[in-house]
Amino acid sequence: MTDQQFSEAVLEWFDQHGRHDLPWQEQKTAYFTWLSEIMLQQTQVTTVIPYFEKFRQQFPTVVDLARAEPDHVLHLWTGLGYYARARNLHKTAKIIASEYGGEFPQSVEELEQLPGIGRSTAGAILSISTGKRAAILDGNVKRVLARYYAVEGWPGTTAVMKTLWQHAEQNTPVTRVGEYTQAMMDMGATLCTRSKPSCLLCPLQQSCQAYLQGKTATLPSPRPKKTLPVKQTLMLLILDDENRILLRQRPPSGIWGGLWSLPETSDLRDATSETGLAIDIDSALPLEPVRHTFSHFHLDITPVKVSLQDKDLTNHVMEEPATLWYNLRQPQKVGLAAPVKKLLAKQLT
Ligand code: SF4
Repeated sequence: MTDQQFSEAVLEWFDQHGRHDLPWQEQKTAYFTWLSEIMLQQTQVTTVIPYFEKFRQQFPTVVDLARAEPDHVLHLWTGLGYYARARNLHKTAKIIASEYGGEFPQSVEELEQLPGIGRSTAGAILSISTGKRAAILDGNVKRVLARYYAVEGWPGTTAVMKTLWQHAEQNTPVTRVGEYTQAMMDMGATLCTRSKPSCLLCPLQQSCQAYLQGKTATLPSPRPKKTLPVKQTLMLLILDDENRILLRQRPPSGIWGGLWSLPETSDLRDATSETGLAIDIDSALPLEPVRHTFSHFHLDITPVKVSLQDKDLTNHVMEEPATLWYNLRQPQKVGLAAPVKKLLAKQLT
């Protein structure tokens, strides 16, 4: 198959079997394309749809998003995970509102300068919203191309990525570029799936090297295995007389940046000095630990119920800007770190 035949086969398949009724396909603006692309990173379409609808309703334009409070954005994002995406979304909206007059730039190079937008997302925004020729290489497309060309090696390495980008660039057609972008994403999501791809229904089957060589189960090559280190922390569940739980906002960058979490300590004996709260260690009641896994380590969290020594401190703590008493029965609209959300839900059961 030539490059042209490749794209023609993909587009023909898309016309008959592709997804044409996704909410972000109703108005293919740069804003909605960008919003959906960021939400779709590491997340399934069915999960994204209600979040996209909420954002579209609350922030109909990129300028509306730029004007939103960061906590409002994080709150609407709660449950989608990978919160750096939400923080970058907000940062980029602000830049577009203040530096580009509310219009997205029209080149891959400029788009790539914006927080959270990589080369593939830039290509998707440009091709879908303007029809300009720009290639994409998201997780789905990497899988299709790695299999079609039988590219060995983990796509996380620079060398493999370079090869895949070359194929992606070559195969991108001159016309119907936006549809081709959507078609490739759809093929990866619905046909060339991670396990058990539907090769018999695939328009590329006759020249797909992975299919012909019986390698669909082993390509793309997985990330080389490594053992993740385990870190430990204690999360303090401090309740006031009204059964509200003390939360603190994390610093804006780093893990769970800007989200609300429980006060933490590495050792109960250091709890007072590490948290600045007068903790009554004798009242400590450790609960069942939970494990939260990040891409580069496991975090074993032991929740510990504790009381404050001095009730007056409660008033003092409440004056801190980054501290709040969280009412489990009438939760405030704030973004919560994922394991904290689970731990709080447990307190209700
Ligand atoms: S033939 Fe199978 S492995 Fe090859 S691109 Fe199609 S679905 Fe993927």
